[in-house]
Amino acid sequence: DDFADAPEAGDKDAGAGLGTPGQPVLAVVGRPNVGKSTLVNRILGSRQAVVQDVPGVTRDRVAYDANWRGRQFTLVDTGGWLAKAQGLAAQVAEQAEIAVGLADAVLFVVDARVGATDEDEAVARVLRRAGKPVVLVANKVDDARSEADAQSLWSLGLGEPIMVSAMHGRGSGDMLDLALEALPEAPPERMGEGGPRRVALIGRPNVGKSSLLNKLAGEQRAVVDSVAGTTRDPVDELIELGGTTWRFVDTAGIRRRFRESQGADYYATLRTQSALDRAEVAVVLIDASEPLTEQDLRILTMVTEAGRALVIAYNKWDLTDQERRDYLEAEIDRQLYHVRWAPRVNISASTGRHVERLVPAIEQALDGWEQRISTGQLNAWLNALIAATPPPLRGGKQPRVLFATQAGTKPPHFVLFTTGFLEETYRRFIERKLREEFGFAGTPVKLTMRLRE
Ligand code: GDP
Ligand code: GDP
Repeated sequence: DDFADAPEAGDKDAGAGLGTPGQPVLAVVGRPNVGKSTLVNRILGSRQAVVQDVPGVTRDRVAYDANWRGRQFTLVDTGGWLAKAQGLAAQVAEQAEIAVGLADAVLFVVDARVGATDEDEAVARVLRRAGKPVVLVANKVDDARSEADAQSLWSLGLGEPIMVSAMHGRGSGDMLDLALEALPEAPPERMGEGGPRRVALIGRPNVGKSSLLNKLAGEQRAVVDSVAGTTRDPVDELIELGGTTWRFVDTAGIRRRFRESQGADYYATLRTQSALDRAEVAVVLIDASEPLTEQDLRILTMVTEAGRALVIAYNKWDLTDQERRDYLEAEIDRQLYHVRWAPRVNISASTGRHVERLVPAIEQALDGWEQRISTGQLNAWLNALIAATPPPLRGGKQPRVLFATQAGTKPPHFVLFTTGFLEETYRRFIERKLREEFGFAGTPVKLTMRLRE
């Protein structure tokens, strides 16, 4: 499957943490009753009500969109991952390990009035080994008198204990300043910002690419923009459509017919790949008058593998009769199932039929490509979905999805944190439901799983 990465043992270290390129992730860890959920409530403030924990009942939500001094981050509350009755050091350590795997930085909460317990020591060992930034929170320091209690926590080997009262708010601002300092800045979006949106017009030879380009360009034929600094010297064309200027990338290749006529599939593939590299959205032309070919399917796969937005244009519609159109529908159902989310337009580059429908389809695909679902919204929906249809058992065990987050856009990328392996079919099910709920028309969706077994 193109969209669901195979999970691997130790995958937690792959990539640069779950917040990249989306929001950075801050996880709150610590043994039961040190005040984690009180602290989470404090950080979220009154903007988001956290359901108060019932002893022995696991919280059903663990990830929240949080904000401090204008910076957005994802706050993960690990409190619900353990039944409170099971206070074993090993389990707390395991919880900390999961948190470290997914977070960019950790708030390690300790009860200053109790001092460091065996469980705290176990967590500290995990955190020291992981090498992730840690802010050691000495909680329940409600007043100046209890500050002395916190000093013993230096023994955990995690630096200075930051004295906080989650209950009264004392010290929590300084603590957040330190935590945010430890979080990585979100990297800038990788695509160039501003300027016209970049469209690749692709398809196998003779489907009508240059005819369509001519049709779209119309009188604007003269508007050619050469991109400097590349050895191949690709030529883009700026074309105004529907009141917006679009950059059709690598149009020289479309006109350089002789290469394709030399019979080298290789050049066609190379050109398609280079156009895709530079484009945000691909319009794949397919000849509606002929049966779908292997090459058409290969080109569609190239688009999804490149992670670009996709519009499918059935060209030469003027050459189709009713019989062909009926057959086409069946062909699409059967062979284009994997890209059924792509908007489709039936056009004729020769007559101009429905060519004006291309722009709305392109805009729709780009919207889906850039769509972002908040962590809160995503998890509320996912929890309901999983409650209604739990993942199948693996080796007699029920895999748990701890939470999910959208790690990026262009294309949308979701990461599911699980305590067990989710079957391929179940991940496909989640993707299908995700599309039903949130749309994502015109874009591949990436779903990866981070596994703790
Ligand atoms: P969790 O199990 O780590 O999520 O802990 P909770 O947030 O449920 O807190 C456990 C208990 O400690 C509750 O009774 C809280 O009211 C109390 N608590 C939390 N933070 C503070 C604090 O800063 N000062 C005091 N005195 N009590 C606190
Ligand atoms: P390219 O190789 O994809 O750039 O395809 P061309 O634009 O050169 O078109 C190949 C052939 O198909 C030419 O003879 C075009 O006139 C013809 N063609 C392109 N679009 C249409 C269409 O919509 N209808 C019909 N009937 N012919 C078309």
